[in-house]
Amino acid sequence: MKITEVRVIVTCPGRNYVVVKVMTDEPGLYGVGDATLNGRELAVAEALEKHIAPLLIGRDPDRVEDTWQYLFRGTYWRGGPVLMTALAGIDMALWDIKGKRANLPLYSLLGGKTREGALCYTHAGGKDNKAVEDSVREKLERGFKVVRAQVSVPKAIGTYGVGGAREAASATWGSGGGTATAPGEALPHEETNWEPTNYLKVVPKLFDHLRSTLGEEVELLHDVHERLNPIQAARLAKELEPYHLFFLEDPLRPEHKESFRLVRSHSTTPIAMGELFHTKYECLPLFTEQLIDYIRCDLGHIGGITEAKKIAALAEPYQIQTAWHGPGDIAPMTHSANVHVDVSIPNFGVQEMVFFSEQVQEGAAGVVRVMSAGVATPLGEAAA
Ligand SMILES: [Mg+2]
Repeated sequence: MKITEVRVIVTCPGRNYVVVKVMTDEPGLYGVGDATLNGRELAVAEALEKHIAPLLIGRDPDRVEDTWQYLFRGTYWRGGPVLMTALAGIDMALWDIKGKRANLPLYSLLGGKTREGALCYTHAGGKDNKAVEDSVREKLERGFKVVRAQVSVPKAIGTYGVGGAREAASATWGSGGGTATAPGEALPHEETNWEPTNYLKVVPKLFDHLRSTLGEEVELLHDVHERLNPIQAARLAKELEPYHLFFLEDPLRPEHKESFRLVRSHSTTPIAMGELFHTKYECLPLFTEQLIDYIRCDLGHIGGITEAKKIAALAEPYQIQTAWHGPGDIAPMTHSANVHVDVSIPNFGVQEMVFFSEQVQEGAAGVVRVMSAGVATPLGEAAA
């Protein structure tokens, strides 16, 4: 069997997805993958069309690992968001072909089920503590047991995460703050008047409010979105200790792994990190020193399923669990891949999920409806 064509489809609705379709010489057999990189979609599309697709014509699609290494090492200038996202799209498509040939679900090819479904968390947010409380309650009523909570910061216009699941699904962050943007027109999201002092004041008060009104039963987490410096992050993690967070997400920028030592040494709040990482090599310092509790790489930006399996395996002996990135700014195929990996690894922790619009569900029928409230299951299977 040979790869005959690689199609790259940049499409909406709502936002730009980069879909990769790998065709084979076996009639009707093809695989699809997601190579969406929020705000730089066209760079990935060009990398795929101009540089990667010509390399794949004539190759055996069964050789997933070999092709992964060929593309990763073949550039010499390797890694980075654009190339690792392009590689993810190809990797997902090749696994899709393998599953279709075997007539088996992906999780079966990855070793079989370790669980019946993946515990999910979704997003709640609001302009003040009461609005966030209401938003969390709404998610609980939909069946969620784990909820991310974000609140507006006074004087900071456009605080990250306060639009809740609807905002995440439309994925306006990093793509101009509007709704649909045409390819190439995305502008960086700018948070006006970002003020860490105010942020550090309001977040502990939010969780004090949520614990006093919602009790201890609900699992709550919070996303810093890499906006604090090390001592600020350490302070926040310490001050949030009484509220028993499920985890504190992305407290620091991704560049300086050693900064996590400071946070760790000051707090027992569980730490999650990794959505801006691109390879297993970036994860290693955090694993070997046990500086985090959850690794939350984005399957669509780390070279796909092949790398995710390795990252999970590297995390396992260090008692670190997975919490793969699951935002609205990646296509539903990555969410689907997330769930198949989730249910086939031993150290799954939690899965981030958002709600896709009806238009997206229509366009990607079969891959997004894996999500049922609170628990995600592989396609076509009912939640346990
Ligand atoms: Mg995040």
